[in-house]
Parts: sequence; C-alpha cells; structure tokens
Amino acid sequence: MPDPCHLLVFTDLDGTLIDHDTYDWAAAKPGLNALNALSAGIILASSKTAAEMAILREKIGVAQWPAIVENGAGFLPPFNTTCPSAADYETIRSALDRVTPDLRQLFTGFGDVTAAQVADMTGLLVRDAALAQMRCFSEPGQWSGTVPQKNAFLAALAEQGVRSQQGGRFLTLSLGRNKVDQMRSIIDTYQPRHTIALGDAPNDIAMLEHADIGIVVANPARPPLPPLKTEAAGRIIRTKEAGPVGWNWAIHTVIDRLEKNRTPTHG
Ligand SMILES: [Mg+2]
Repeated sequence: MPDPCHLLVFTDLDGTLIDHDTYDWAAAKPGLNALNALSAGIILASSKTAAEMAILREKIGVAQWPAIVENGAGFLPPFNTTCPSAADYETIRSALDRVTPDLRQLFTGFGDVTAAQVADMTGLLVRDAALAQMRCFSEPGQWSGTVPQKNAFLAALAEQGVRSQQGGRFLTLSLGRNKVDQMRSIIDTYQPRHTIALGDAPNDIAMLEHADIGIVVANPARPPLPPLKTEAAGRIIRTKEAGPVGWNWAIHTVIDRLEKNRTPTHG
C-alpha cells in the first residue's frame, strides 16, 4: 500500500492535457514540473488502451502512477506496459458470440477486423491502430443496422451484463465501469488530502464533480459544458484557453490556492 499522498491530479488527455490538433503538451510542462515538485500524483485518463497509454505515460514522465484506460472500463497499474488481464474483454467477446447472427453481423468491433480496417475506421496509422486493437476492458465498433435492431442487439447483451455507450463514431461495449469508478478506487488506494480533475467533455463531468476542484478546460470545438453540480460551491474552475495552455494556467492557479489555504506552520 503506497503512503497517503498530498495531492492527486486526474486528467483527461485529448483536448485537455494534449492539444486536440497538434497532439503536443509542451505548454503544460511547467504545470507538470510544479506538480512533480510537490510530489503530486498525476493520473492520466482517456479512451486509449493500456498499450497506447503506456507509451504516452512514459513520454509524459508519469509511469510511476496508475492510468485510467478505455474510458474508465479499466486501469493500467504503475510501470506496467500492458494490462494484467483481458478477462473483461473476453467476457464481452463471448457475450457477442451468443447474440443471434442476424443482429451480431450488424456490429463490426475492433476485434472483428484487421489493423488496416481499424485504421480506416479511426483515421489512425496502421501501426497505431494495432495498439488500439489491444483491448482488455471494452469493445468499440460500428453499428450498421436500424435503431430497433440496435435496441434488440443491446438488450441481448444487457441480459449478459454488457453495457453500451454510443459515442460520435463508435458504439462501445463494456462491463459498465467509467472514469469516475476508477477515480474512486485510485483515491481509496492513495488516500490523497486533495484531488483535482481536469477535462473538456461530457464524459469527464462525473470526474470533475467528484474532485475537490474540477477544472473545465475550454474546447472551442464543442459547446461549453453545462453548469456542474459543484460549480455554485466554487469547486469548478473554467479556463479561457484550450488544451495544454489552459491546463497549465489552471494547475498554477490551484497550486497557488492550496498554498494560500495551507495552515501556517509555527516555529
Ligand atoms: Mg477530451
């Protein structure tokens, strides 16, 4: 069991720590360094697989912390480069095998096709698509049937404990855990005194509301998030600038606030 830590920071990647277009996070480096100087934990959270996340986590320099992968369906332990078990994914694939073929054939999951086809579906390079296919906890795919057919397909999966979430491009199947479930379990493990969460999209809201301070990083590409439950209590900060520039500003703002609120020591 790790020692209780002072501060844990949970952060979404795409459009939050990492620029949506350039995929760069240089502007956030001063904030990352400031957190390291405080020995704060930095928990990356995204839709990436463990295989994709491990590479990025190493580059960002936070491999000593767990990361939340596959949109919260699972997590990657510190220093691991692959997930310890793909049992959840095997459960989902077995459930798919038990759906009647007339409905099953209307869903094309990442596990049904080649890396080249996943590259076509996602816009990733083939080599990156292969990493996106290394799934442990959830199965994204494309639906090609009607809405009533989709409802029947999802009902057949729900009977087997498989949940679904419809995103912009993909219908993702999982066993139902999300980013905030993983956040709760990481908080249980590390017992931080303070928590911060940063995100830019609706699927970050639960995480932002669960943190002591939630930071909504501006994303000019989508409508602003609605007022959050903890916003009136002053526990939400919204950045003016997008991506890593906004991320960096917010981290410095919160660190200043925590320092000011710290009880002065005597002696
Ligand atoms: Mg995002």
